[in-house]
Amino acid sequence: MDYRGRSEQLSILPQPHWLVRLGRRLSARLLPGSCLLCGGDSGNTLICPPCEADLPVMPDALCPQCSAQTTHGERCGSCLKNKPNFDRSFALHRYDFPVDRIIHALKYGHQLAVADWLGQRLAKKLLPQAFDTIIGLPLHPERLHERGFNQSGEIARRIAHDLHLPLDRDSLIRSRATPPQAELPLKERQRNVRGAFECRCDFSARHILLIDDVMTTGATLNECARVLKLHGASLVSVAVAARALKH
Ligand SMILES: [Zn+2]
Ligand SMILES: [Zn+2]
Repeated sequence: MDYRGRSEQLSILPQPHWLVRLGRRLSARLLPGSCLLCGGDSGNTLICPPCEADLPVMPDALCPQCSAQTTHGERCGSCLKNKPNFDRSFALHRYDFPVDRIIHALKYGHQLAVADWLGQRLAKKLLPQAFDTIIGLPLHPERLHERGFNQSGEIARRIAHDLHLPLDRDSLIRSRATPPQAELPLKERQRNVRGAFECRCDFSARHILLIDDVMTTGATLNECARVLKLHGASLVSVAVAARALKH
């Protein structure tokens, strides 16, 4: 079989209508050994080592609470002014090209192997931190029905597996559908998600690890953390595959 020819068709590099072509080939599934980005030989991983080495990384000096870039790794002005409800955050990558395409391929191209790949690498980054329970940021049931899966839940599943921790899929629910945060001005994002989540469990004295695919302003994660703390959580840490940072 000519793997090279077929694998090139699976590249998600930006070409005209790349997502359309990617979607068309979903039924063919990703060939083992073809890099999602360049289509070249990647061994048995999703992205070949040279492409992975080129992915945008997080800066060294970060706010420990929200992972915004700061000069010396001190707490950022935003967190000092309005203390987030989550206590710490971890981000695997800066949200930039081509990480945006990789996450797009997961969410809209149904490339579930991406969630596994991100979760595996995020789990390594999180070691040796200790958590009691892992929760993927829940989708509203309507959106879950449309998409067929919850990308954050899929990333959380792999992390829970690798860290040998319980994954809680039921206690935190999204009870109100909200307009996508990306369509709103920054100030309205917090208001948009206020009251969108409900918790059905007592998390007294527990350290929760909350997982999402992308953190932009952190408004949604902050609202989830607020609800988890209302239900007793003593600590809420947040881990995301990618963090959007100001340039
Ligand atoms: Zn590659
Ligand atoms: Zn901060």
